[in-house]
Amino acid sequence: QQQSLKPLVVMMPSPGKGHVIPLIELYKKLTKNHDLGVTIIIPSNDPPTAEETTMLRNINHIFLPPVPLSDLPSTPKVELLISHTIHHSLPSIRRALQSIASTGRVTAFVVDLFGTEAFDISSELNIPSYIFFTTTAMLLSFLFQLPRWEETPCEFDDSTELIQIPGCVPIHIEDLADGFKDDEILNAMIQHAKRFKLAQGIIENSFLELEPDTIKELQNVKPGRPPIYPVGPLANMVNDQTKLHGNNNDHACLRWLDEQPRGSVLFVCFGSGGTLSSTQIDELALGLEMSEQRFLWVIKSPNDKDSSGSFFNVNNNILNDPLNFLPKGFVERTKGKGLLVSNWAPQAQVLAHESIGGFLTHCGWNSVLESVVNGVPLITWPLYAEQKMNAVLITRDMKVGLRPKIGEEGLVEREEIGIVVKMLMEGEEGKKLRHRMKELKEAAIEVVGENGSSTKQIEDLALMWKKG
Ligand code: UDP
Repeated sequence: QQQSLKPLVVMMPSPGKGHVIPLIELYKKLTKNHDLGVTIIIPSNDPPTAEETTMLRNINHIFLPPVPLSDLPSTPKVELLISHTIHHSLPSIRRALQSIASTGRVTAFVVDLFGTEAFDISSELNIPSYIFFTTTAMLLSFLFQLPRWEETPCEFDDSTELIQIPGCVPIHIEDLADGFKDDEILNAMIQHAKRFKLAQGIIENSFLELEPDTIKELQNVKPGRPPIYPVGPLANMVNDQTKLHGNNNDHACLRWLDEQPRGSVLFVCFGSGGTLSSTQIDELALGLEMSEQRFLWVIKSPNDKDSSGSFFNVNNNILNDPLNFLPKGFVERTKGKGLLVSNWAPQAQVLAHESIGGFLTHCGWNSVLESVVNGVPLITWPLYAEQKMNAVLITRDMKVGLRPKIGEEGLVEREEIGIVVKMLMEGEEGKKLRHRMKELKEAAIEVVGENGSSTKQIEDLALMWKKG
């Protein structure tokens, strides 16, 4: 086998595009600016999709054999699916790590929040372990407290109770990540959180200006807490060249955006996994229509049982054309004003387009960061995982978004959607949020610039890994 002269780094995301995307950004920085040989090993449940293959073009990666989900309930929660997949991938993770280690000196094994079970393997092979935390410093701060819940479980009966997370605005219990209210998931998360102390460092995809108090709090040295490296925003930043001249695979929606007035279009997208019920799709459609604003909506087929219905390919019923589920006459009535794209759009490019003036998002952290780097204010529509916590951070702490109210039936109703969309796109409140988001954009550009703090953190990590 050919031996590598460069120090090697192995990185492993959890399954799900949202976990792979920021790791690819870290990969690009490490391989472009530093002399390291990086491989991404990817656990999964299904053979890769076309989007995954495209995003991993020119990236040194290995797809581990897919883990069947046959022994799980038909609609398990995302966190359990992920933990199950990692657990059953351990033998193939071991083989991949051993094989890479036989070609050279592996100086770091980087996993994300759900990958800590693999630390046993890296420690056996004497490879230092790191965590790449793909979401907020807020959730990281919360997870550091979580092992305590094993001894004193938190009761959720008192619906007025606020949870205090060090360095964060208080969170209403309702807004805590769903998983913490489910015993099985809570238990899995406690086990992950307990293993955080085994890491040599935690690489956090956020930055000081975005979550100042939380990051400062996390950087206080405490026993059992590894050093934190804020490296964010690691987000797909579309460069000015691509913005000006487009690229060869321009999507039709980008050409449509070219025709729209500056800052006039609301982008509506619920990430790679988010799905709405059929009634909620109706309300959203009619609400967008009532707002009288232009919109670009990435629509997926409804799922009445699970709001993360397309997170795993296995649940994704892409054979159904999502456009069949819209209210009667909607497409005709909104022609010219609205554009619908089925299942997937090039979001990073869309958000970088100058016609975009707002983003209705499910609050996945990559989506939030992509909006920050483009200065686009938000409407928060959290669906699963930690997204409700992100919505609190966005609206009450960062102050760059509006959160529509949920009505009696558990639905966000059309009137509410109409009002909130109009307020963001045309109102005074929208102006303030846009202004604040522009400030965060400036800060983001600064920290990832040549002398920026996030660039410096990545340099420190790379230097450490080169020395091994
Ligand atoms: N994404 C995209 N097109 C889509 C939907 C999602 O390019 O139609 C990308 C988006 O730009 C982001 C990622 O998929 O980088 C979604 O990650 P996020 O953390 O926002 O949410 P998740 O899908 O993990 O819930």
